[in-house]
Amino acid sequence: MLADIHNQYDVVVVGSGLAGMTAANTLARAGHSVLLLEHHTKLGGLATWFRRPGGHIFDVSLHGFPVGMIKSCRRYWCGELADMIVQLLHIRFDNPTFSLETTFDRRDFTELLTNRFQVPEATVKEFFDTTRSMQFTDEQTMTTGELFERFFPGRDDVVRLLMEPITYANGSTLEDPALSYGIVFSNFMSKGVYTFQGGTDRLIKIMAGVMKHNGVDVRTGCNVEKIHVEGRRVEGVIAAGRFIKTRSVVSNANLKGTIFNLVGRQPWDSDFLDEARAVRLNNSSTQVYMALREGEQIDERTGDLLFSSTAPAFCTEMLLGRNVTSRTYSFYYPRTRPGQNRCAVVASTNANYSDWADLGKEDYAAGKQDLIETTLAAITKYVPDVREKLDWVEAATPLTFERYTKHLCGASFGTKFEGLAVSRALPEQITGLYHAGSVGIIMSGWLGAVNYGVIVANNVDAFLMTGNSQTTAENP
Ligand SMILES: Cc1cc2nc3c(=O)[nH]c(=O)nc-3n(C[C@H](O)[C@H](O)[C@H](O)COP(=O)(O)OP(=O)(O)OC[C@H]3O[C@@H](n4cnc5c(N)ncnc54)[C@H](O)[C@@H]3O)c2cc1C
Repeated sequence: MLADIHNQYDVVVVGSGLAGMTAANTLARAGHSVLLLEHHTKLGGLATWFRRPGGHIFDVSLHGFPVGMIKSCRRYWCGELADMIVQLLHIRFDNPTFSLETTFDRRDFTELLTNRFQVPEATVKEFFDTTRSMQFTDEQTMTTGELFERFFPGRDDVVRLLMEPITYANGSTLEDPALSYGIVFSNFMSKGVYTFQGGTDRLIKIMAGVMKHNGVDVRTGCNVEKIHVEGRRVEGVIAAGRFIKTRSVVSNANLKGTIFNLVGRQPWDSDFLDEARAVRLNNSSTQVYMALREGEQIDERTGDLLFSSTAPAFCTEMLLGRNVTSRTYSFYYPRTRPGQNRCAVVASTNANYSDWADLGKEDYAAGKQDLIETTLAAITKYVPDVREKLDWVEAATPLTFERYTKHLCGASFGTKFEGLAVSRALPEQITGLYHAGSVGIIMSGWLGAVNYGVIVANNVDAFLMTGNSQTTAENP
């Protein structure tokens, strides 16, 4: 895989998640020599897909992102990608407290909150304006729970409507900083939820083409074993037993994995190491992938995204537990991949790594089978004849995510929010070392990862031009 590579690059990017690829592409476009090394045989990290017999293609994490992705793709990738982005119009909620459909934007949510949930319009407006004004550089004094208590005291139903989709999406809790909720929520509320028409396979193919055009040297199946540091300065990386010299490294690998495994414990300030140790990993996920036989349909009124729960009230612990009460269904219709007359559904659930990691082989297999069976039983409420139409079904667990992305404990969204400061501080510790990838709720997800890739690429560009690794760049 490393045949014909150069002995030296301006930048080596470790990992081809959306942040890694965006950083690599931005830096190559700026004229730097860039080597992108990915341990998996496919690009994309979590933004990837897989094929199964019968011509089925499953998207792993293409469920929905904010409208900002259009601008970011046009600016940092190409117009073709931006033009593939379409809105998901039918977002449904179904739980013991309420069942409703929404376009998941400010206008529709204002109407829901005022008419259906009877919240005064002035309160709704102030809540939206408050969340919209939040910046990731703000002080983190208030928690999300306190934010809700300020605007909607005692209103568990309103909290459920506002919080459940964000928790499903990124594992955030009422105890996390309010700004990490507010920024993500208002990103979605600006214009609703979007997806790529054509699927992740088409997306990654276009991204790979753009990177090639801009001169990124892309190598898959190449695990980076070590980031080599000499006297607090990056010297190179070791991949497949080979040393590759570089002035800078952008690690798209898990933040804690980067610090403790790829670099190792030697060159850091002890305060920084303490801070890094205290960073919490985000939770993981389970998924059940279901493909219908070619030509079999699902009624499109079932929705595009369906947040379903049987739990009596919103509760983070219940969302994560093995006894699944809440599932998010992503429905993929033939229009999702034009030219293919197929329907698929992916059911996602937040999950604890520890619930799966310690199982023996047989219990693990039984756990997966149980996950499939309980999911099929649950989905019949929405697609009654799903079992007769099914052509393929399989499950992924936190161990699956760990294996394919090398995220510690299969973390779906990298680290909790405190990881952002540690990620940003890497170049202050080691000259030439940067991290771009999921850290917390803002700099993760599809849009967050792309934008963080750009921010970090701008920092690396400034470093390569000036030799000063403390230079920071603007948020796109
Ligand atoms: C089930 C699920 C559903 C999701 N749904 C959504 C959604 O609907 N909307 C949304 O916006 N986001 C969603 N996400 C989150 C989103 O997919 C991620 O936040 C985003 O794709 C992460 O991008 P990243 O750049 O941080 O890198 P990652 O995707 O984490 O990729 C990191 C890459 O680094 C590689 N790597 C690691 N170590 C090494 C090494 N030593 N050598 C070489 N390569 C290495 C890995 O193989 C991987 O390719 C979901 C995530 C999950 C798990």
